[in-house]
Amino acid sequence: MLEGSEARHLAAACRARAGDLVCLFNGDGREYPAEVVRVDRRSVELDVKGPESPERELGFPLQVAVPLPKGDRAQFLVEKLTELGVTSLVPLRTRRSVVHPGESKIEKLERWVIEASKQCGRNVLMRIEPLADWAEFCARADLPAQKLLADPSGAPFRRDPQGSAGSPVALAVGPEGGFTSEEVEMARAAGWQMVGLGTRILRVETAAILLAGLVTTSSAAS
Ligand code: SAH
Repeated sequence: MLEGSEARHLAAACRARAGDLVCLFNGDGREYPAEVVRVDRRSVELDVKGPESPERELGFPLQVAVPLPKGDRAQFLVEKLTELGVTSLVPLRTRRSVVHPGESKIEKLERWVIEASKQCGRNVLMRIEPLADWAEFCARADLPAQKLLADPSGAPFRRDPQGSAGSPVALAVGPEGGFTSEEVEMARAAGWQMVGLGTRILRVETAAILLAGLVTTSSAAS
């Protein structure tokens, strides 16, 4: 029996009827094909057939640390990073960042992750981590060896020839006002490598999506 907002969505928006086939997922990496048995306004009864376990994840953990852009652009960012298979998103507080999500905003981001996952067929949810301070985050001991920071001074992205398939990658992008030079130096000292993304100044979300795209489609990493 499915209840709550997903039941209402299935009944009202998708107009599900008895006999229809649907596919359920709960973020555990499996999918549950099901047949609709009965529909009323608040609940949908389903005959669940699964589970099946199709692999839709990247072959390596990918973390993206980025200050949230303003307004609709945050939703766009969350949607696209979910589609690209990013493992976790770390909202950053930096010297010049302006959007610092609290608990209710984080819940909103999680809802966008679910929406995007339904659309793109992803069955493991991108994790939204708590807000992190860049100065503390960039030097964390548990970050992967491969750490790439989007910075116009950096060389174009090249896959790490030493990086073995399956090894984790962390990416970082600065806020609309950019990282301060001190913040860039802290990162360099902590082993972050600068990656240039061309000669134009990109918006936060463009830089994050482009860098994630480069890394997810480069063969060493996937
Ligand atoms: N106001 C800043 C631009 C910030 S753009 C300035 O004039 O420098 C937001 C972030 O996107 C930057 O901090 C950087 O991480 C990334 N970015 C934007 N354009 C980029 C480029 N051409 N190459 C690499 N990173 C870029």
